[in-house]
Amino acid sequence: MGISVSISIESTKALLQKYNIRPSKKSGQSFLINPIIAGKIVSFANLSKNDTVLEIGGGLGAISRLLAEMAGEVIIIEIDRNLVRALNDILQPYDNVKIVQGNVLKVDLPQVSKIVSNLPYSISSEITFRIIREMEFKQAILMYQQEFANRLVAEPCTQNYSRLTANFTYLAKAEILMPVQAREFYPIPEVDSSVVCITKREDGPFATDNDLFEIVVRGIFAYPNKQVRKALRIWFRQLSISRETADRLVERVPSIESTDRIRCLGIDRLVELSDAIHDMIEQGIMKDIRGNRTEVRCV
Ligand code: SAH
Repeated sequence: MGISVSISIESTKALLQKYNIRPSKKSGQSFLINPIIAGKIVSFANLSKNDTVLEIGGGLGAISRLLAEMAGEVIIIEIDRNLVRALNDILQPYDNVKIVQGNVLKVDLPQVSKIVSNLPYSISSEITFRIIREMEFKQAILMYQQEFANRLVAEPCTQNYSRLTANFTYLAKAEILMPVQAREFYPIPEVDSSVVCITKREDGPFATDNDLFEIVVRGIFAYPNKQVRKALRIWFRQLSISRETADRLVERVPSIESTDRIRCLGIDRLVELSDAIHDMIEQGIMKDIRGNRTEVRCV
């Protein structure tokens, strides 16, 4: 069988056999078998020869080949040695592809203009935050498990709006482009998927202290359905900070009512809350809750 034929379930099975690969669930190995969907994913990225594209988890090259055709340069990070071997053969006709064998959560990330990937779903969150924190890019077209995608785009006050949404929306914006059914992959995963476009959030408001923003979001989104005052009191008690301090804090943020639900706080109000905490720390009204600086030392 030639390797330049369009993807299908037969070609996928044949390649797996040829390279002696048993798809690993743990590594999220489900390979796209529908060429129309692969084509759509790549076309969403509007690639030109001026683009350098990163693909995370090249697999058997379903998307990679199209990227190589359309983009100026393609960099693929793939963790599985056998798949890297397969990719080297499959992408041999192209001289604009670089394949890096490694874990995307550990390797140095390249400078690119776009990212296009069908992600390993078990590490969606880690990958997403790594790329939006550490990379500059114009646009990322990524395929996720559908539930995860729904959380990325959730509006405040809805069931899917969560700690993930808040932290993500602080740094980036997501839009769902297309649903993809489980049967479009081999082996068939247990979940449906969504293709999402991600861009970085350029304009603020941003918190005075990004780390503090995350600490605040982590602290209060443990209680998404509680009222703000109640959630702050519980969180502060864990930090050995008085309930009076929690109540004073709420009063300092005019946009937040003490009875608002945590789940209803959008980015702007979370930034105001974080900055109010920042001010109270700076003014010595509240102890510093940022990292090790607060740790009591044992002598
Ligand atoms: N893009 C291909 C394969 C998607 S499956 C397709 O659409 O058919 C997910 C791919 O990510 C697999 O090839 C898997 O080996 C790879 N992968 C899993 N964990 C990884 C990690 N930590 N770093 C890099 N690649 C990873």
